[in-house]
Amino acid sequence: MNNNHHSSLLCPICRQEKPTDRMMPGDLIPDSVVAAIQQQNPGWTRHDAICTTCLNQAKMQHAKTLLQAEKGHLSDLDRQVLHSIGTESLLSENPDLTFDQSRTWGARLADQVTVTVGSWYFPTAILMFLAFWISFNVLLQPYEPYPVIILAVISAVLGSLAALQGPIILMSQRHQARLDRLRAENDYRLNLKAELEIRYLSEEMTHFLKRINPDKQHLNQ
Ligand SMILES: [Zn+2]
Repeated sequence: MNNNHHSSLLCPICRQEKPTDRMMPGDLIPDSVVAAIQQQNPGWTRHDAICTTCLNQAKMQHAKTLLQAEKGHLSDLDRQVLHSIGTESLLSENPDLTFDQSRTWGARLADQVTVTVGSWYFPTAILMFLAFWISFNVLLQPYEPYPVIILAVISAVLGSLAALQGPIILMSQRHQARLDRLRAENDYRLNLKAELEIRYLSEEMTHFLKRINPDKQHLNQ
């Protein structure tokens, strides 16, 4: 009972009992985040502790203020990054995987056609077919009563093939552009989160160095 009491503390912000390893003493927190905590909870001081959930929320608030000051308005991607900081959740995802799961049957087919048509195999196959067809008809001319009509049919088939290829290749290019955009968005989120986390880490480090060298504190002021 007594042991249990010792292993948890009351967080003054959310008023919840938290295990001691989820509690952070206020004097370990850098000034900028202390300001963010006090903005929402004016009664809180450095002498109080805070749970990591509330601390992450304050970190998120601090990052939001920073971003708003620098960018003016926040995009959806910025909000996703802030959410990830506030909830301490992992941000990285594989855009290729998300993209692959969202692709329809038609999209897969269009991409497959583009891959086939866009390789040397396709023109080689057509050229070989034409060479075979022409030589076959030249050599066995007596057996082919209407060679001109057959050539007209082949050219009509090839013409339709070319007309169909255009839209299919455009479809595939649109998918590629969407995948590129997903990748770029993912990169943006990861970079922004890394930048904000490194900035916070640097603030923590400065705070820590000041704390273990109180004599030199005047040098920083
Ligand atoms: Zn709390």
